[in-house]
Amino acid sequence: CGIFAYLNYRVPRTRKEIFETLIKGLQRLEYRGYDSAGVAIDGNNNEDKERFIKLVKKRGKVKALEEELYKQDDLDSKTDFETHFGIAHTRWATHGVPSAINSHPQRSDKRNEFVVIHNGIITNYKDLRKFLESKGYEFESETDTETIPKLIKYMYDNRESEDTSFSALVERVIQQLEGAFALVFKSIHYPGEAVATRRGSPLLIGVRSKYKLSTDQIPVLYRTCNIENVKNMCNSRMKRLDSSTCLHAVGDKAVEFFFASDASAIIEHTNRVIFLEDDDIAAVTDGKLSIHRLERSASDDPSRAIQTLQ
Ligand code: GLU
Repeated sequence: CGIFAYLNYRVPRTRKEIFETLIKGLQRLEYRGYDSAGVAIDGNNNEDKERFIKLVKKRGKVKALEEELYKQDDLDSKTDFETHFGIAHTRWATHGVPSAINSHPQRSDKRNEFVVIHNGIITNYKDLRKFLESKGYEFESETDTETIPKLIKYMYDNRESEDTSFSALVERVIQQLEGAFALVFKSIHYPGEAVATRRGSPLLIGVRSKYKLSTDQIPVLYRTCNIENVKNMCNSRMKRLDSSTCLHAVGDKAVEFFFASDASAIIEHTNRVIFLEDDDIAAVTDGKLSIHRLERSASDDPSRAIQTLQ
């Protein structure tokens, strides 16, 4: 129901600051209604060899999640994250009862290699689940969403080369998905990186930097726009990208990115936003944002998912 994620690149933040940003983001989305909430953050900073992702999920209010976070974490430990990516979600259950295990982020496996937050409904989740179970992936929730982190792990486990990018994996995943979704992915295999995509459910990215960011730091065709002009923007469509276009931002300046399903969670941080369109895949790597459009399969065959997976 509500998506909020925060990436700080070369902007040192303490654990407490990261928690506060994530919780505040969720609170801004509370008005939409929800039954549970959860976050995923790094367990330790990127210099540690043994990376892990910490998941905290709770049925009930964001307040309850916040209390749980503070209970579980030693906020006095002065862990600073130069670069960090945290994701947060409020869930309105469509598949599976409201519970901690069914709430998001959903994960690929017990090691939390890939974690995902999702708004919307995956209509072909039963087929995907059957396929993944036949490959030995074990499910723990009743949600449609859980197929997504499992599917990306499957793509990762079967990647053809060591340097397959995070966004290439996500691209393969969404080629298999039917239904509506806004998704944000985080992974221990891609520390400090974020991938977000959508089809049918809204998702936008806010960009903040004390440096003057121009079109050479953010994708050119997706000029950021002033959030006050959101209404106008909806009327005047932004220039569409070709499916083949891949634009890379350049620049290594300190920058923060905010991902949200709703502008109300971003406006307090920045008024420079980029609205993703259907089948856009946005990735942040080394503080650079790139967006490209998925080239969709022409086939409408409903069994396509399973056939192309094998
Ligand atoms: N269909 C998903 C679930 O039931 C996502 C629901 C939502 O948009 O919050 O977990």
